[in-house]
Parts: sequence; structure tokens; C-alpha cells
Amino acid sequence: MLHKQNIVEATTITIDRYHIYLFLDPDRNYYLLVSEIGEKKAVSGNESRMQAIYQITNRELMPPKASKRLEDLWASDVFTLAKMQESLPKDVFKSVKKTIQTGEPLNISIADSVAVAMKDWAISKGALYYAHVFYPLTNGTAEKHDGFVSVQSDGTVISEFAGKLLVQGEPDGSSFPNGGIRSTFEARGYTAWDVTSPAFIMETDNGSTLCIPTAFVSWTGEALDKKTPLLRSNAAMNKAATRVLKILGNTNIAPVNSSCGAEQEYFLVDTNFANSRPDLLLAGRTLFGKPPAKGQQFDDHYFGAIPERVQVYMQDVEERLYRLGIPAKTRHNEVAPGQFEIAPYHEAANVATDHQQLIMTILKTTAKKHGFMCLLHEKPFAGINGSGKHVNWSVGNATQGNLLEPGDNPHSNAQFLVFCGAVIRGVHKFGPLLRAVIATASNDHRLGANEAPPAIMSVYLGSQLQDVFDQIKQGALKGSTDKGMMNIGVDTLPILPKDAGDRNRTSPFAFTGNRFEFRAVGSAQSVAGPLVAMNTILADSLTWMADKLEGEIAKGTDLNKAIEAVLKEVIDNHGAVVFNGNGYSEEWHKMAVEERGLRNLRTTPDALPVLNEPEIISLFQGMGILSPVELASRYETYSEQYILSIEVEAKLVISIAKTMIYPAATRYLTDLATTVAGLKEIGVDFDIESAQTVATLTKSMMDSVSKLALALSSHDFDSTEAHMQYLVKTVRPLMDEVRKYADGLEGEVADDMWPLPTYQEMLFIK
Ligand code: ADP
Ligand code: MG
Repeated sequence: MLHKQNIVEATTITIDRYHIYLFLDPDRNYYLLVSEIGEKKAVSGNESRMQAIYQITNRELMPPKASKRLEDLWASDVFTLAKMQESLPKDVFKSVKKTIQTGEPLNISIADSVAVAMKDWAISKGALYYAHVFYPLTNGTAEKHDGFVSVQSDGTVISEFAGKLLVQGEPDGSSFPNGGIRSTFEARGYTAWDVTSPAFIMETDNGSTLCIPTAFVSWTGEALDKKTPLLRSNAAMNKAATRVLKILGNTNIAPVNSSCGAEQEYFLVDTNFANSRPDLLLAGRTLFGKPPAKGQQFDDHYFGAIPERVQVYMQDVEERLYRLGIPAKTRHNEVAPGQFEIAPYHEAANVATDHQQLIMTILKTTAKKHGFMCLLHEKPFAGINGSGKHVNWSVGNATQGNLLEPGDNPHSNAQFLVFCGAVIRGVHKFGPLLRAVIATASNDHRLGANEAPPAIMSVYLGSQLQDVFDQIKQGALKGSTDKGMMNIGVDTLPILPKDAGDRNRTSPFAFTGNRFEFRAVGSAQSVAGPLVAMNTILADSLTWMADKLEGEIAKGTDLNKAIEAVLKEVIDNHGAVVFNGNGYSEEWHKMAVEERGLRNLRTTPDALPVLNEPEIISLFQGMGILSPVELASRYETYSEQYILSIEVEAKLVISIAKTMIYPAATRYLTDLATTVAGLKEIGVDFDIESAQTVATLTKSMMDSVSKLALALSSHDFDSTEAHMQYLVKTVRPLMDEVRKYADGLEGEVADDMWPLPTYQEMLFIK
């Protein structure tokens, strides 16, 4: 008996109506299989769709994995501090630990010992290769694999991993987007080991690899990745925060770090459907599709029972995450049918960002095993809720704790109000930057479109905090003490309510009790850009505050009075960004722009050029995060990505309309025409309205396709910005136009001829 896994060679020939298969097993025995080719029916979508449904409904559920103890799983694939402690000499371990915990530069002489320990551990886990993992400007993750193998002069091999290979790698980086920083003749890019993010084993069906998180820089030291600016922004924020904490009277101040907990939304679609949708395969979203009769109106999916098959998938994902030391904490159904969410517990921003990348990778690869395609796109289905990534962000340290925690004593209130005020100032001054770092072709479908959150950046504080800031504005803070009216100050502040922020889903930037939640971030995005922006604007505001406070104190002003004055200035000049109402409303959009002077940058082509504005250039340069060249390279790269994604989508629209929808429509039309003619012949008067509708829609669709094809052939643009504006103003509307007619056809053409899996099928059949 021949088993699939025993086939070492196979070949097929077709003679007349027969397929003849030839198999070879390891012992070189031949097997012949002859099968008759079934009668070929007219190609109809029905067949493949029915086949897909059959496959799905007859699918055997993957059994849930035997549940393992969390303690056994936890970080078992991570080279943790504990594992280092076991395997490294004491002084080496101390030095590495210090670097990880305080950010002090690593003493390079110890890299050799670490490398050997890391390699031995990795080999014990079955890895023969290591990879420097880095995070290029694409939102993705890149890896360069190298073997531990080292061939000796006598032909034998040993495994080898020197410190210098751990510390630095040299991938040929020329094919990664760099926005013109490097031309190919100077293509060298270096990866540098990020000691603060732990190395781990990535296990796939094809083997295990030791993965080392790294920063990716050019040979002249320019950041080519998303990690380098993040590390720099954290250092800048630490410096500024430490200054402020010192002014507030603290003497023992541990390094300040930002934290991030990102809630990831995603859709799951069965691969049997996804594989029949070129748009899902290549663009990650449906470019066609009529909304189903039942959408999310019933709100019955949100927090409903998780479908069994999905839960088995989620558990599989979580097991992988736990092994990688990623603290997956919540899971649930989201608002739309087929939409889900996973959120890990928050961690240091740098580690959280690397972990976020891993979460996205693991969501996708694990989905394949379970017969799903995981869609991270912000808007896979028109008319149905999109996916976001809420980035919860706070800053804190080991000595003062979370600096955005209102706390329950007046002293920490002053600290809180200063940091919270700094954020408010930053979001007001640099709101357009926050818009720019979440600008992608796919996120445009949420922001500024008729879906939350709006493209206008505002801060939600909640009514109680709003009240506190209002009182600061009036220069008279009423307290809960019997002193009546009182001035703000570390000794006299009232006790703030513990849960100072309620919920407001319509705000793009909301205070939620002890952190800010940046809700406008896209589900497919790396969280690095948003974190860099938040850390940087905070660093800028805290530096401004420290200067102010030091100036006042030097003049002999009392600390309390100085804080009061600086907070009043913040709220006087930047309070316009605070908005607690409904961010979706028309009134807000009008008021924000006309009365408050906030910018409404609806699309990526509107938002990305913000990166070229003088204030933004000097912000990044002044804080030491990105040089003008590095910033410009980001503008170029992100613009290019925008242009490419719209062009890919437009091409797909054309080809799907022409090669799938048009043939279905004309076939159906032929059927109708035959019927009408046949009936007429026997004297039956038959309604031709339907045929007319189909004919009109088909013609209109093809006219729009021609217009779109022509529009797409235009290549003469004065600037990248002009090119982007052209795509959003001319090309995107034509894509929508084609879709409108095509979706109209979907409502007319016989279901058994429709070639694309429908929304109903994709969203409801699991
Ligand atoms: P919700 O849906 O209520 O917003 P979730 O529990 O889904 O809350 O997600 C909240 C996220 O915020 C989690 O990742 C959590 O770890 C994170 N978080 C909580 N406190 C902080 C904090 N101080 N700083 C950063 N992130 C935080
Ligand atoms: Mg949330």
C-alpha cells in the first residue's frame, strides 16, 4: 500500500479522457493510478463555491491541543534572563542584565560568552540556524538566516556562533524600502543586536531558528527600520521625564520607559473561500461584494460565544505566544461577524512592539493550519466594521511607578497632572503628526471615512478630569477639603477619582484611567510609528515644561505656583484639543475645524506630507529621533507604499471585473436571451426587464473599467504628493464606480453563475 508520505517522485500524463499518475516509493517501486476525466461542465462559480462550502462543512475539526500547564509553556522558547543566569559566568550575566534593565551600552567583550550560551541553548531546542530579525519600513518583519555550521580544514563540521555574529549582521538591505537613503552601490545595511528584546526560537513545520531582534541601520548610521527610532524616542522621553521628576522633588529616579498594550482586531475567512478571491489573496480586502441581508445590525456577534473552530485556533495561537513569552490576555468576538480580537498584557514599548509583530505573524501562520485566512486589513469588507489596533500607552519607572496614574494622594496628582498636561499639549501641537503615523491606504477606509475614529486628532479626558482642567483654567481649583477654593499644588490638590476616564469609543485618543489609548491605529500596522510619535511629542512637551518650571523656580517662584502656571498655560493654549463628545458627529467635524482650528486630514495623501513640515522636521531633529534625511526617507517610503497599494488594487479591480464578473454576467444574459426568445417563439409574452438591467449594469461596469484603465495609465506627476492626490481623487472613485455596478450585478445574476464567494458565505460559514 502506498502512502502519501512515501511518495518520492510523482508524474502525470493525460491521454484522451484519462489522467495517468505515476508514483515512486523509496524502494523504487512504481504505482500506476488511472482516473477518468469527468465530463467538463460549463465553468460556473457555483461549482467552486459549492465545493468550498462542502469542504468547510465536512471539515474535521482540529482537535484542541492537550492543555499544558502555563508554567511549562511560559517563555519556553525564549532565551530569558533566568536562562542566561544559569548559563553565563556571573560577571557576564550582571553586565547583560544591567544593559537590559537600565539601557546602559553593552560591553562588547562579553558578547562572545553570550553567543556561546545562546547557541548551545538554541541547539538544545533543535535549531541549526540563527536569524537577525529586523523591522523594515514595510510594517512587516524581515529575517536573514545563517547556519551555525562551520566546516573545518579536515572536512568535519562544528557549530559556531561568535560574539561578533550575534552583535552585528549584514543583510543585503538594498531591496528593502529606504526612501532614497541608500542607492544600490552603497547597499550595505547592518543589523545590530537589541539586547533589551530577548532572543527566541521560532518553530515552524520546517524546523527551528534562533531569532535575534535587531536594529537595522545603514553603513552611515541612518535608521532604516522602525526599531531604531523607537529606542531613540524612548531615550529622549526618559531624559525629559527624568528632568521633570527631579524638579518635582524626586531624588531617586529609575529610568523611565514607555509601555504598550495593543489590542489587535482581525477577521477569519475559510481558505476555501479566500483562495477563490484574488482580491483577498493579493490586496487583503474584498474589492467587490454585495453586503449580506444580515450584517452586524443585530449586534449578536460582539462578545457572543466564540465558534468552536475559532476557539481551537485561538488556543493554538495562544500556546505559541506563551512559549514566546508573549502575555496573551484577552480574546473575544468583535462587532462584525467573523471578526475577533486578541490583546496581550502591556509590556515595555520596545518588547511590546517586537511581540506585536510576532502576534501578527503567528495569527497568520496558525490560521493556515486551521484552514483559515487571517485578515489583518483595516477594512476587509465594505459596509461592515473595520479592524483597528488600539494602542494603550503609558510611561513610568520602577521608582515613581506609572506617571499617568492619577493615584490617590495629592502628591502624585501633581505629577499626574503635569504628565497628562504634557500629553494634551503634545497632541494639540502635533495632532497632524499623529494622523500621519497612522496613514496607510488601508487605514483610510476607517479614518475620516464614515467610520470611527475620525481623522481629527482630539483627546478624550472624561468628565471628571475635564472638570479638574477647567478649574485649572479658571485659576481656582476647588478641592474636596474644607478649605474651599484653593490653589493647585502638590500639597493642596484634591484626590482624583480612581477611574477618571469613562469610555468613549468615538475618540481617537482617549484617557482610560491610567493610560492613553490611541484608537486610530490600523490593525495591519506596526505599533512602532505611533509609539515613536507619542514618545517624541511627550519628550518635547516635558522638555518645554522643565524649561518653564526651572525658569520660574530660578526667579524664586514657589514650585506649586510654577506648576499651576505651567498647567494653566497648557490648558489655555492647547485645551482646544480636548473633546469629550461624539467624535462621529457632523457638528464635531465642523466645530473642530472652524472653531478650534484642528486639522481634518481625511486621507493618506493629505496626512503624509505633514512629515515634510518644518515643525515636524525640527521636532524629530531637536529630540534626536530622526534626522531630516531619515524623516524624508520615511515620507518617500510610506508614499510609495500608498501608491503601490492603490495601483495593485486598481489593477485587481480591472482584472476581476473583466475576467470573472463580465463573463458571468454575459453568460447569464445569454441564458436570459435564449429564454426570452424561446418563449416568444411559443407565443408567451415574457418580461425582459431583468435582461435589460443586467445588460445596462454590465455595459456601465465595462465603461468604468475602461475609464479606470485609462486613468491608471497616467504616469506624469510633478511630485509624489501630486501622484497620491491623483490616486485618491481620480483612481479610487473609479474603482468605487466599477464596484457599484459589479455589486449591482451580484444582485441580478443567477447565484449559480456568480464566480466570487459572497459576503454571506465568507462571513457566516465557518
Ligand atoms: P479594553 O478593551 O477595556 O480597552 P483590554 O483589556 O482589551 O481593555 O486591553 C487593554 C490593554 O491595555 C491591555 O493590553 C492592557 O495590558 C493595556 N494596559 C493596561 N494598563 C496599561 C498601562 N498602564 N499602560 C499601557 N497599557 C496598559
Ligand atoms: Mg481598549
